[in-house]
Amino acid sequence: MSVEKILEINNLSKNYGSLQAVRDISFTVNKGEVYGILGPNGSGKTTTLAVILGVLNANGGDFKWFGKPLQKETRQRIGALIETPNFYPYLTLFENLQIAAKIKNASEESINNALGTANLLKRKHTNYGNLSLGMKQRMAIASVLIGDPDVLVLDEPTNGLDPEGFAEVRNIIQSQASKGKTIILASHILDEVEKVCSHVAILKSGELIANGRVGELLTSEDIVYVQSENQDELFALLQFAEMVSRVSRIEDDITVVLKKPFTPVELNKFCSEKGFVLSKIMLRKQSLEAQFLELVK
Ligand code: ATP
Repeated sequence: MSVEKILEINNLSKNYGSLQAVRDISFTVNKGEVYGILGPNGSGKTTTLAVILGVLNANGGDFKWFGKPLQKETRQRIGALIETPNFYPYLTLFENLQIAAKIKNASEESINNALGTANLLKRKHTNYGNLSLGMKQRMAIASVLIGDPDVLVLDEPTNGLDPEGFAEVRNIIQSQASKGKTIILASHILDEVEKVCSHVAILKSGELIANGRVGELLTSEDIVYVQSENQDELFALLQFAEMVSRVSRIEDDITVVLKKPFTPVELNKFCSEKGFVLSKIMLRKQSLEAQFLELVK
């Protein structure tokens, strides 16, 4: 099955005066992916989204949506949320969305579908001003679902939400993804990207420092520290051991990352069978958070 490229970004750069907010970044988003753009505040996520949505002009590089430069027809296939939309507090959710539907030339059915997906159908006749923060966030997402776009672009969609609100937004994203929609979302929260996204591009100071499948890029690894009387020989042994994924030397320790599902107990046994008595064997669980911080340090 051939993959359909939804968005291709090639060597994109954007400056604000002398500040280079986005530097020469390239990555591709394929159909059906939930693609996270992850990075700390100020790393260039919103700028990247604003450029690919045609809100800002790039200073270098280019991008293509559905294989073409951004044009009116392609823009209609993209539902974007980069700023909180302005809704009228004294109009109901349905009335507010009627305005959005009119602009997008979408049907009344599309409004009900959007409210249903955002789990707000029961609130259809509630005034927007009476919604909780979590509901307001879902209403914002409902507004981009109007017209049933193929792609959703969301900037920090769970920002400020409590765990329940987070879970509800996550459900919306996952239900859209299961329908074959493509989702691009910017986030500074590793947990959000880990739980919601299939792919990720990690930005740091405007530069792309890594991208790929979430499971491959952000896997939690356990590191085992070992010492023996003869570190040189042990190091040589471990470099070719079947159960070892990576090995390196840091100060007095040899650090080992084991292939799954091997455990330190098996490593210890293996070393002893090869004639090495370990004077130290210590396991350190490295959290995803720690790895992410290491990447963006
Ligand atoms: P955040 O999550 O805080 O929005 P971000 O990763 O989305 O961060 P951007 O908002 O794209 O990052 O900002 C990237 C850099 O560009 C930052 O240093 C920011 O201060 C700067 N910047 C953003 N918008 C402007 C602007 N309109 N004028 C000048 N500098 C800007």
